[in-house]
Amino acid sequence: MNTPAVYLDHAATTDMTPEALAAITAQFATTGNPSSLHTAGRRANRVVDDARIAIATAAGAHPSELIFTSGGTESDNLALKGLYWNRVKANPEARVILVAGIEHHAVLDTVTWLVEHEGAELCWMPVDADGVLDLDAVRALVQQHHEHIALGTLMWANNEVGTVQPVTQFATLLAEFGIPAHSDAVQAFGAVHTNFADSKLAAMSISAHKIGGPVGIGGLLVRRDVTLMPVQHGGGHERKMRSGTLNAAAAAGFAAAATHVTAHRERESQRLSGLREYAIQEILRLIPEAVLNGPRDVENQGTRLPGNLHFTFPECEGDSLLFVLDMLGIASSTGSACTAGVPQPSHVLLSMGRDARSARSVQRFTMGHRTTREDVDALLEALPQAYERARKAGMAADESSIHTAGTGFTR
Ligand code: PLP
Repeated sequence: MNTPAVYLDHAATTDMTPEALAAITAQFATTGNPSSLHTAGRRANRVVDDARIAIATAAGAHPSELIFTSGGTESDNLALKGLYWNRVKANPEARVILVAGIEHHAVLDTVTWLVEHEGAELCWMPVDADGVLDLDAVRALVQQHHEHIALGTLMWANNEVGTVQPVTQFATLLAEFGIPAHSDAVQAFGAVHTNFADSKLAAMSISAHKIGGPVGIGGLLVRRDVTLMPVQHGGGHERKMRSGTLNAAAAAGFAAAATHVTAHRERESQRLSGLREYAIQEILRLIPEAVLNGPRDVENQGTRLPGNLHFTFPECEGDSLLFVLDMLGIASSTGSACTAGVPQPSHVLLSMGRDARSARSVQRFTMGHRTTREDVDALLEALPQAYERARKAGMAADESSIHTAGTGFTR
């Protein structure tokens, strides 16, 4: 197996659960297009229908509300573009999109594209130092500008610092003014309580590979009274909102993971938050200058993702620490982008009011279903020496000799 000894990057992607692997493998061995009318097609269609019911149930939605997509990125694109185009068609004056700076690039780059190509305007919603939405400020914005607002979007949980947002209050506020709300629940679904029906959202994005399902399939929950203008045209699948032959095998794997993660969510949340609190206490004891980013959820009240640890390690380039830890057999993440070899500050930390230097000195450790206490102990053993070595290397802005390879994407 090529996986590092200690894998603490489950927010980037996590192992498939045995149930998901068995389900997808069984289906890949059979043929049939779910749209075909013959026996093989109807059999594949039943697999998709069963998967749809299981995933919708896990998400607190009606099966007809689930639109299958290729993943979280596509779901965010479809929700934001589809909602925006529909709203502007109905009211050309409503062009403002409410968005916060802490969003994933799948949301930020989509709304920026709508500004550059479709005449949208962005209204930035403020967050506090923990990255939590300032609902009072949003209420004031909505009361003042509601005729011009096309939609609002608020991620359910942040992929870098793990902050869980007041999504239901946000969607309820917008609903009072007839404004549709979307949430990117890619990190939250399966980790914290996310019930689509109760949320008042118009649309919610989820992704299989973050919960133990396969990469390459996701979902967008779209309320039954909401229609989206499609991004992709073709055979009219998925309520005419997302054309393309359905992937029955991947849907079966997604469903198996969704069912498993929902059945075990509460117990797993207690287990992971226990590991998280142990790790936080120990890291702050071993490295007193380290700063925890995001809410401190000691009692596991649901303000932070149970498996998320995110620290600023002062005067230490995040990428350098990542590479030293990797050499010591520990997979972690900075969560922030690296452009043309130059480490970039995390846009999330900048939005939370940190300066550019400390927003580059960050490290994220995310735990998942196969993380054990031994994994955390291995991190605790390696971290002080790794920090010491990475800090000696200095910050890239000070010493231009440090070059790092990066993708430019935030995961
Ligand atoms: N939104 C959030 C919050 C994420 O963490 C990710 C994962 O990278 C995505 C969207 C994109 O999801 P996917 O990898 O399924 O396209």
